[in-house]
Amino acid sequence: MDLNLTEQELRFRDEFRAWLEANIPEEWSAYQSQQHESSRERFDFLRAWQQKMCGAGWVGIHWPKEYGGRGVSLIEQTIFTQEMARAGAPTLINVLGLSLLGPTLIAYGTEAQKKRFLPNILSAEEIWCQGYSEPNAGSDLAALRTEGLLDGDHFVVNGQKTWTSFGHYADWCFAVVRTDPDVPKHKGLTYMLIDMHSPGVSVRPLKQMTGESEFNEVIFEEVRVPVENVVGKVNGGWEIAIATLMFERGTLGASLQITFKRQIERLIELSKSIRRNGGTANEDPITRQKLAQIYIEIEIFRLNQMRTLTRMSKSGVPGPEGSIQKIFWSEMNQRMQQTAMEILGPYGQLTHESDYAIDHGQWAHAYLRSRGNTIEAGTSEIQRNIIGHFVLGLPKSY
Ligand SMILES: Cc1cc2nc3c(=O)[nH]c(=O)nc-3n(C[C@H](O)[C@H](O)[C@H](O)COP(=O)(O)OP(=O)(O)OC[C@H]3O[C@@H](n4cnc5c(N)ncnc54)[C@H](O)[C@@H]3O)c2cc1C
Repeated sequence: MDLNLTEQELRFRDEFRAWLEANIPEEWSAYQSQQHESSRERFDFLRAWQQKMCGAGWVGIHWPKEYGGRGVSLIEQTIFTQEMARAGAPTLINVLGLSLLGPTLIAYGTEAQKKRFLPNILSAEEIWCQGYSEPNAGSDLAALRTEGLLDGDHFVVNGQKTWTSFGHYADWCFAVVRTDPDVPKHKGLTYMLIDMHSPGVSVRPLKQMTGESEFNEVIFEEVRVPVENVVGKVNGGWEIAIATLMFERGTLGASLQITFKRQIERLIELSKSIRRNGGTANEDPITRQKLAQIYIEIEIFRLNQMRTLTRMSKSGVPGPEGSIQKIFWSEMNQRMQQTAMEILGPYGQLTHESDYAIDHGQWAHAYLRSRGNTIEAGTSEIQRNIIGHFVLGLPKSY
């Protein structure tokens, strides 16, 4: 594993760094402190930002050139994500389309599907959500009950999805639907692309403890989905659904590592000024131990990310080691946010709505939001099951 960047990679990094410096809109800081994912204004701002980045050729850069990307290497893609995080740039709003569906369509979609959907993912013209989880099917995804019955050249879809992030803004949903109830549960599923503006689709936002409504319930009642919107084979959706999850777990780490590093550095700064037991927080021996431990873990996370990347650049696909990273960062982030609360004391509870909040209340938000990290994209228990079975060769959990 060579950790040094080549001349070309350095040029790429400098070019993108300069572009970000010149182009991040000034209003971003105001939107950042608002924090509410659900605010329409913020959404419009982020969509305009993705359109601007797309116009300059900076979206989906790892996609092949023929589909609107730049065909850059995995290392350059990582540099890209790290530079975005380092600059504190606005996020790309169509994240589920870009990181999950796009790569899935490139690998498994028909030419017609690629032509129809990929350009609008890049430009954020069409926003995507992920319709996997249901009230009785989360970890055991294959137990899902939303049904699709074939009627001529359409499937008629009925059922309910839940925890659907961005469902309230989404134009399209990549969903897994039961199309054959009479075969073993993994074998009767189909992966299909559902137009969220179709008659029969309704969306109900769910309120989270952060105050945001980032995710939703989505109800399908007699929704007609053309057969040409099936990705892969009818009843062959399980393989495609898993491929999408692998893309999700394999690619998240690069930007998180920089975000965490920025947070721990800021926390160390804060610990120098916040008063605790007659001194400053950083004089407290237990706090010092915790800060040092988190710093070490972020380094471990960074090095493991390099290992994942090296493996992915050789094999082309993320492997089960994505699960190791997922557990590691999600649990480490919860410990870091807990330590932040201990350092900030009562200030840690102030949200962006308070004039006295430190850093616009981002710590209270990060603490509450981190609880979902060990649930989303597969819970920690499920990741351990994956490692147990696929890495250690232990018996399956079901
Ligand atoms: C912030 C956030 C965003 C999300 N966004 C989306 C989205 O956009 N689209 C989408 O489809 N879903 C989304 N989800 C849903 C997420 O994928 C599910 O919540 C997750 O898979 C867990 O499913 P569940 O909530 O049904 O819990 P359950 O599966 O009911 O699990 C309950 C508990 O039992 C444990 N458990 C279950 N099975 C086993 C087992 N075999 N072995 C050991 N322990 C087990 C779990 O670890 C958990 O602790 C999101 C979730 C969150 C928190």
